[in-house]
Amino acid sequence: MQVLVVGAGVVGLAVARTAALRGHDVIVAEATGGIGNGVSSRNSEVVHAGIYYPTGSLRARHCVRGRRMLYAFCATHGVATNKCGKLIVATNEAELAKVETLLAQGLTNGVEGLEMIGGNAARAIEPELACIGALSSPESGIIDSHGYMLALWGELEDRGGSIAFETPVERVSYAAPHWRVQFGGRDAGAADFDAVVNSAGLGAQALARKIEGYPPDKVPPLVLAKGNYFAFAGRPVFSRLIYPTPVDGGLGVHVTLDLAGRMRFGPDVEWIDHESYTVDPRRADSFYQRIRGYWPGLPDGSLVPDYCGIRPKLTGPGEKPADFLIVADPAHGLPRLVNLFGIESPGLTSSLSLAEDVVDALEA
Ligand SMILES: Cc1cc2nc3c(=O)[nH]c(=O)nc-3n(C[C@H](O)[C@H](O)[C@H](O)COP(=O)(O)OP(=O)(O)OC[C@H]3O[C@@H](n4cnc5c(N)ncnc54)[C@H](O)[C@@H]3O)c2cc1C
Repeated sequence: MQVLVVGAGVVGLAVARTAALRGHDVIVAEATGGIGNGVSSRNSEVVHAGIYYPTGSLRARHCVRGRRMLYAFCATHGVATNKCGKLIVATNEAELAKVETLLAQGLTNGVEGLEMIGGNAARAIEPELACIGALSSPESGIIDSHGYMLALWGELEDRGGSIAFETPVERVSYAAPHWRVQFGGRDAGAADFDAVVNSAGLGAQALARKIEGYPPDKVPPLVLAKGNYFAFAGRPVFSRLIYPTPVDGGLGVHVTLDLAGRMRFGPDVEWIDHESYTVDPRRADSFYQRIRGYWPGLPDGSLVPDYCGIRPKLTGPGEKPADFLIVADPAHGLPRLVNLFGIESPGLTSSLSLAEDVVDALEA
């Protein structure tokens, strides 16, 4: 098949690479001038184990399977990862009960190596930590996400695929047996494809509305939840990822580490109604308060506004968190078209697994 993948984020690139490996002719159309310029360059770069998500959900399945595939891919493609492990910490009895529920959830999801440890055991490995107990997840880690995307791109090209940059998709219509796609940008024009994948991230709903004949009730709402990060101006004190118990809309302001060993905090959850990428320095106050819950030694004046990312959510504050939404034929009644909505965390971890299912759906 001639396959068009819209969006050169981590999910689009994984889909394109998988389709190319299966022998299809693949073009990726990307609106910006490079890979990973959307949500994929504004996240925590954490390889999630798959603990939090309801058993049987797409997020649980793709996170657990995707994580195993991701570590294996990185090991064979020279992409840096560090399986540094993670602690989800409880600072009081109510949180301890919540963390124990997470242990049960993670075990049912098939996550390897999970165990509860006491406060003393946690302090023995992370001396700055204040907690009465923690869930230890040895499979959690960090990844060079840009290196990963470059590796996907490389393999796509090795199999004859390519990316058209500065090429926004403006209109899509089905005229049997082909999809006719109208491009804007640098080389504006039209071309025919056998199959189309909408992996446009924050632009997925807008693109779905440009697909002629696509049922409007199959376009879910887009809810923007910004996640702000603050960098720590000092020597890192933790060697693992440290997460508090989760909050509404996110996993709580956690300690993330990058592969250079730098430490930062975030993301929080800020519900917004239009895309904006500034980090309000005043949000530092709530960061100090929340971080000191598990790290009382956080010095005054040590948090510096860093970057932020926007989660393409499908539900808003107080609502039940939505699952990934993959809409293919027969749900929308159009052949060889897959729309991906709500691919927020753990989308990076899940990307290789999602890609298998998307290409299966195109081939069905
Ligand atoms: C704050 C935050 C923290 C996160 N942390 C983690 C984490 O630690 N671990 C994890 O596993 N996941 C994490 N995620 C989730 C992960 O980053 C995303 O699931 C993933 O990056 C989504 O990739 P994507 O390819 O779907 O979207 P994107 O990377 O946004 O790619 C979509 C691309 O489509 C392009 N596009 C849009 N419209 C069009 C059009 N009409 N024509 C052509 N191109 C178009 C855009 O320019 C963009 O490049 C986090 C997300 C956020 C926001």
